[in-house]
Amino acid sequence: MEKCMKDFARPTVVVSECLGFAPVRYNSRVIPDAFVSSLGKYVDYVTVCPEVGIGLGVPRKPVRIVSWKGGDRRLIQPETGLDFTQDMLDFSERFLSSLGEVDGFIMKRGSPSSGIKEVKIYPSTEKVAAIARGAGLFGGQVLLRFPELAVEDEGRLTNFNIRETFLTRVFAHAALRRVLKTVRMKDLVDFHASNKLLLMAYSQKELRILGRLVANPENREPQKLASDYERHFNLALASTPRRTSNINVLMHSLGYFKRELGVKEKSHFLDMLDLYRKGTVPLVAPSMLLKSWAFKYESDYLLSQSFFRPFPEGLVSERDSGKKIEP
Ligand code: SF4
Repeated sequence: MEKCMKDFARPTVVVSECLGFAPVRYNSRVIPDAFVSSLGKYVDYVTVCPEVGIGLGVPRKPVRIVSWKGGDRRLIQPETGLDFTQDMLDFSERFLSSLGEVDGFIMKRGSPSSGIKEVKIYPSTEKVAAIARGAGLFGGQVLLRFPELAVEDEGRLTNFNIRETFLTRVFAHAALRRVLKTVRMKDLVDFHASNKLLLMAYSQKELRILGRLVANPENREPQKLASDYERHFNLALASTPRRTSNINVLMHSLGYFKRELGVKEKSHFLDMLDLYRKGTVPLVAPSMLLKSWAFKYESDYLLSQSFFRPFPEGLVSERDSGKKIEP
């Protein structure tokens, strides 16, 4: 696989086409998104507009999700009364089953077709308030079909914690795919070694299972072992790491410099950790501090860890809101 930087595999990400690619919105608009645009330098995008995919033109009358009397959720065009539910489900099946290997999805927030969360569900086609929230029709199928992948919308990705987790998962997934193309035992062992701290943050349980797998006491075929490794690696990365788990990894890493650092440096680091604990700064802030000590004191082990460079620099910045959005 082509590398996007010195040592990053280049992920493939499916993205809603209206997010800066083409004017496919119902009102012929395009919605530029700064993050989607800057990520484009490091990933290959596969664009999709499910409403255009089912033959609705541009411009078109809007659709919405209607749940009559709390029953089935249907995709309806209020102005015409047409029901596009089956068309959308058929399109989802066709499109998603024809996708090659992908590492993540960025969907349009709030869309009755593409949204993955918080999409308004109406009780009728009249001008009434929404009665519930949920996934859009296509977005819901993405979630069902790719439970192991990072799937987000552009609104949630303005939160730097959600963005960091999304990018970490996408780049880790692509890196493992690259290793599994050849399935050499040594590559898998090296991959595991360089992801130890990352896995420690995401899931101690899966870290132990993965460690036993690569130790390979039964001398299993690399091919068979690789599919188990992939399953457990994806399981490990399926949940968002708790802030306290990241702090544990950072404290563990600080231990590598206990002799080198002075009281003031340690106290500055602990202050930074406190800001991270409170959600004032992103994980990258204390991580960068540790990384600069890893360079200074030549800690090859820490420098080899994906935890300290899970994705290319510059994709999470102080311009991100950091506002709290429930995961
Ligand atoms: S939200 Fe989805 S369906 Fe609507 S214009 Fe964007 S890509 Fe197309």
